[in-house]
Amino acid sequence: MPRESFAGLQTRTGKILASLRHAYPDAHCELNFSNPLELLIATILSAQCTDKRVNIVTGELFKKFPTARDYADAPLAEIEEAIKSTGFFRNKARNIQACCRKLVERHGGEVPRTMEELHSLDGVGRKTANVVLGNAFNLNVGVVVDTHVSRLSQRLGLTREKTPEKIEQVLMELVPQADWTLFSHWLIWHGRRRCDARKPDCVHCEIRNLCPTGTMVAT
Ligand code: SF4
Repeated sequence: MPRESFAGLQTRTGKILASLRHAYPDAHCELNFSNPLELLIATILSAQCTDKRVNIVTGELFKKFPTARDYADAPLAEIEEAIKSTGFFRNKARNIQACCRKLVERHGGEVPRTMEELHSLDGVGRKTANVVLGNAFNLNVGVVVDTHVSRLSQRLGLTREKTPEKIEQVLMELVPQADWTLFSHWLIWHGRRRCDARKPDCVHCEIRNLCPTGTMVAT
């Protein structure tokens, strides 16, 4: 297969965006939240855990700990108990408490709106910061690269990069900034509903004709 030029890749990416926008007009963050703090906590909890499980846990958690100060002042064991079923709970509880202490000390208990400030909080990497900036504040500062976005970016031939940081850089060049947050929702929704890690449903895929992996699959 001839190597695709960057201009060709940009054109194909534009068509993928249009098709996914059409396929998933309601795509959104599937974590439940009603304010930036709740989204920050839910995203920390979502590491190695399904959104569905996180939503079950946060239903009670957010009632018990409505503010950053509540997490900051609580006995650590209480936070651990409340989030136990999300896995890696000791580490997550420690991070949540340390993160909320910094929110109280540095930001008056509010979640900051910049990548630098968010990234300096415990348990908050670039991916979590992008989730919060994009979905709680409508700021397109970067592209969320999770396991679905990584897998689909490779299957769709958008990049051969392997690390989330490098994949994000490529996607930021290919996708218009206004679509960065939605683009990751579209790929995540497509990954969950169609392009499964083990069994992609290429035959019924909405973007099959734009996907080098899909066009190799016989009907
Ligand atoms: S054609 Fe197959 S591999 Fe490509 S995006 Fe669709 S489901 Fe995934």
